[in-house]
Amino acid sequence: MAKTLSHPSFLASALLAWYPRHHRDLPWRHTRDPYAIWLSEVILQQTRVAQGLPYYETFLAAYPTVQDLAAAPEAEVLRYWQGLGYYSRARNMHRTAQQVVAEYGGKFPDSYAELLKLRGIGPYTAAAIASFAFDEAVAVLDGNVYRVLARIFGLHSDIAAPSSRKEFQAVADQHIPATAPADFNQAIMEFGAIQCTPAKPDCLFCPLQSTCWAFQHGQVSLLPVKSKAKAARTRYFHYFVLRHGEQTYLRERREKDIWQGLYDFALAETTEPELPAAELSRHLDALGAALDTSQAAEPTAAYRHVLSHQKLEVRFHPMALAEALPEATVRDLGLRAYSVTEIEALPKPQLIANYVEQNIRTTR
Ligand code: SF4
Repeated sequence: MAKTLSHPSFLASALLAWYPRHHRDLPWRHTRDPYAIWLSEVILQQTRVAQGLPYYETFLAAYPTVQDLAAAPEAEVLRYWQGLGYYSRARNMHRTAQQVVAEYGGKFPDSYAELLKLRGIGPYTAAAIASFAFDEAVAVLDGNVYRVLARIFGLHSDIAAPSSRKEFQAVADQHIPATAPADFNQAIMEFGAIQCTPAKPDCLFCPLQSTCWAFQHGQVSLLPVKSKAKAARTRYFHYFVLRHGEQTYLRERREKDIWQGLYDFALAETTEPELPAAELSRHLDALGAALDTSQAAEPTAAYRHVLSHQKLEVRFHPMALAEALPEATVRDLGLRAYSVTEIEALPKPQLIANYVEQNIRTTR
């Protein structure tokens, strides 16, 4: 970590003056509890504040301490997380809580270096906890901070390249004041979120305009430099929504793939959008499904669902069964029949939750 300046730099002075007048009042800014701060940081990664806020409140109410979270069943944690996406974050969060309890007696370590030793806590989260909870002068680097630093200092390194982190971290650590590290970190992130925004930053009323390299050189729209991510691949999912009376068959996704630990229906994946009739029959034979043809229904149109590195095209094939699935199928494929109330309590991808809400009800 670079040494901090004894006098606040021009950047720290400007941001610390700007912050009290402009920042949003958010609940995690009123706590020094490392557990609550960590929770907010995990929830807010890749999530907008407005979307994350109710989840933060729900989690804190359900699990007021790290011990409560550690002791909860994983399926319950995933159910509370439902709708936030990136479910591996929830599973890692749960494991980290268990590690804090098992190895640290339920107390978060109080330094950046020690926090980094926790599973699932990277440099950003460690810096946030160390500065917000323990006043350690270590700068946070998130997308907002990268943008602000790139523009103000004219840094042209590709922010998508891991090798750029060192350069940006050194610049930020040079400017974080030892007297107010938490405020500086909050301020620079907030400044990026509401003043120095990706598109249309408010340069006209910016307190850093005269010292901002990008503004002075007419390069605001060119910075930061960020190479394009690889194009997302498309996957085609065909869900068989098998229902027998009031019961619907679902299974837990155990494989190392998207949505691990969540529940969905029997699935056939294809490389093309359509599921050919011969392949559909083959899948139904493998399931041993005896269909009630008097209740035949058409598959839905394709739902498009975008994840971080994948695009999904999903069709649901509602199928009424004349009799329950054979026991061997249930055992081999991990399927189980659930009532509507039981399905409601299962953690599910949002796409499945939406389908269930709109299409699967008790008929009585
Ligand atoms: S002048 Fe514009 S680009 Fe520069 S820091 Fe201010 S808002 Fe950002």
